[in-house]
Amino acid sequence: LVSRELQAHDTLVDVGGVTIGGDRLAVVAGPCAVESPDQLHETASAVKAAGATLLRAGAYKPRTSPYGFAGHGTEGLKILREVGDDLGLPIVTEVMDTVDVSHVAEAADCLQIGARNMQNYALLRAVGAAGRPVLLKRGLSATIQEWLLAAEYLLAAGNPNVILCERGIRTFEPATRNTLDLNAVPYVKGKTHLPVVVDPSHGTGIRDLVPPMSLAAVAAGADGLMIEVHRDPAKAWSDGAQSLYPDQFQQLMGAIGAVAGAV
Ligand code: PEP
Ligand code: MN
Repeated sequence: LVSRELQAHDTLVDVGGVTIGGDRLAVVAGPCAVESPDQLHETASAVKAAGATLLRAGAYKPRTSPYGFAGHGTEGLKILREVGDDLGLPIVTEVMDTVDVSHVAEAADCLQIGARNMQNYALLRAVGAAGRPVLLKRGLSATIQEWLLAAEYLLAAGNPNVILCERGIRTFEPATRNTLDLNAVPYVKGKTHLPVVVDPSHGTGIRDLVPPMSLAAVAAGADGLMIEVHRDPAKAWSDGAQSLYPDQFQQLMGAIGAVAGAV
């Protein structure tokens, strides 16, 4: 179902009125996690002013350490919904567990399946049946074929509204958090009709690498970007080192416009 051989034209996914895929680049931005109403509102206002059209933030966070901040859960979803409604930004947020799918689907415009859950088949089936668009991150060590087959689970469960997200893979290189695989963008777009977005924040793990890799992703043909931004990255509860300052994000949005216009 995901194959271009079966469907030649690009799938356009509508997320709360914003189209992902097609001619316009979609930028999803926001903090890694919902920390407080104030933190989310201030950051979301800044990304909206800079031109982002979708808001991201996690209420359920998959943390490598069991002692890391794991998100505010249902309270976080409530904050997200309020801020999204207030600013008119559709929301993309992660769901980690099948038991949470229905209430996350009630609050969010798009359900994110995180890299760690790309091959959680029970979750893929549940999210596939939830009736919301899905953003499917590539697994930490997943091949492109495995990633496309994970997307196939969602389509097979009856959900055609799937967005693929390249967020870097684990390689032998420890200098960056992950290795952003930009080969995957034109390759996958040749294989599937689904839109492909790139997350250079998790793909690099290093703030100052995010702007150049965002531009590279656009040049490679990405349909959108997912970028972490925090009003005060030094105080972020998660992923501060890769989160852009709001003014850095604003500058990047200007540069993205120039590159998107050129390709
Ligand atoms: C995130 O988007 O904050 C996240 C946890 O991403 P990933 O699943 O790609 O690590
Ligand atoms: Mn993060």
